[in-house]
Amino acid sequence: MNISDGELMEGILASEGYEIVRRPEEADVVLVNTCAIREHAEKRVLGRVAQLNGLKSDRPELVIGVTGCMAQRLGETLLQEAPYVDLVMGPDGYRSLPASLERLGTGARPGPEDRKRGGEGHPRRGRGGQLTVLDFHPAENYEGLEQRRTQGPSAWVPIQRGCDHRCTFCIVPYVRGGEKNRSLSEILSEIEGLAERGVSEVTLLGQTVNSYRWEDVTFAALLRRVARIAGVRRVRFTSPHPNDVTPDLVAAMAEEPAVCEHLHLPAQSGNDRTLKRMLRRYTVKDFLAKVDMVREAIPDIAISTDIIVGFPGESDAEFRDTLELMRSVRFDEAYTYKYSLRDGTPAARLPEQDFVPPEQAQARLEELIEVSRGVQADINAAEVGRVEEVLIEKPGRHEGQVLGRTRRNKVVVFDGDESRIGAYTRVELERTTGATFAGAETTTGVPAVPV
Ligand code: SAH
Repeated sequence: MNISDGELMEGILASEGYEIVRRPEEADVVLVNTCAIREHAEKRVLGRVAQLNGLKSDRPELVIGVTGCMAQRLGETLLQEAPYVDLVMGPDGYRSLPASLERLGTGARPGPEDRKRGGEGHPRRGRGGQLTVLDFHPAENYEGLEQRRTQGPSAWVPIQRGCDHRCTFCIVPYVRGGEKNRSLSEILSEIEGLAERGVSEVTLLGQTVNSYRWEDVTFAALLRRVARIAGVRRVRFTSPHPNDVTPDLVAAMAEEPAVCEHLHLPAQSGNDRTLKRMLRRYTVKDFLAKVDMVREAIPDIAISTDIIVGFPGESDAEFRDTLELMRSVRFDEAYTYKYSLRDGTPAARLPEQDFVPPEQAQARLEELIEVSRGVQADINAAEVGRVEEVLIEKPGRHEGQVLGRTRRNKVVVFDGDESRIGAYTRVELERTTGATFAGAETTTGVPAVPV
């Protein structure tokens, strides 16, 4: 979502005549886009802006902005902690980015076109103090705003913003506001445009992406429409909430050839009492029933998940239930986190004695990672020898190698030329490191899905 928001900001600025440069040393404005999910990420942002402040010693007119969820969460406090920050802007403020920069005295510089015409672009004004843009705009649907995407075969497409759930650990609803869905026609025409430009893989994005609804159009119906757009060969989506994994959605996934055989399904915990206190609104049994439903319809599907350990009050036995869930579901991949206290969330108000000591949380995390890596390595070892359709995404680490992804979201490295980025091919999986594969292109063998 943050990559996608970054593309949106670039699009908004580019359409106002800003030139996007890649090095802070060349920029008049540096925006640091942020996440507020865990404290660790926020600490790194503070380090990064302090480092950027170093550039101001030569160029005091440089504007440093902090955007996104951490900006929304900290607001004015951020200006106190990092007084050299000029702009603090939450996720609902991006439309006003050009106007805000203008107010700070950093209008767009003349781009190459303006220069050719002898124009001066926007005048650069004197510096105008600091600015915070933190209002929520429930009606802000990001309509009409263009994302500026990097060239490539894949694109992120936000279809929903904000969240109506209140998982007690999570800061998202407080920094992104309630759920807002984009209109069906906007989404479809955007993806049609992407497909015309050669994008063949799209990932639909939302905090609980499968609760999407537009008038009487459900997420399952949207998924079918997207999957049938000419030129779209792969459709993915993230992250769904288990409760909205409906038979309709599973049928769409099973029946639409373009929808990939991969599902990211955050479980968070394998213990009912913990799930209840997280306000996830499902039990372990419910979660397992969803997994069964999906696997019955799509036997070969790869399933990944998110897990939090050390939620306040989690006992050792309750943590063991999470290990058990990991072993019984056999997730292809797990993103594992230590609970991080987020001020303003309900869990932050739990009794102090409930908080799991950091060493214990760390030990649980390590144990979970070990189990999850073991499961992953077993699954992947059993997949060696398969032939898979691979979309070539980028150069590999070594010269002459490329990296691609299978429909089941597994990363494969193989010999190939960079010029083939964006192409689909068939690759035999020859070896696994446990997490990723090494393979070789092949013209023989039958891939799970015809290439
Ligand atoms: N709404 C999306 C994204 C949430 S953030 C979703 O449900 O998938 C991604 C993951 O971060 C969550 O699934 C959760 O596992 C983790 N997370 C969220 N808040 C957290 C916190 N306070 N501490 C630790 N991990 C957290």
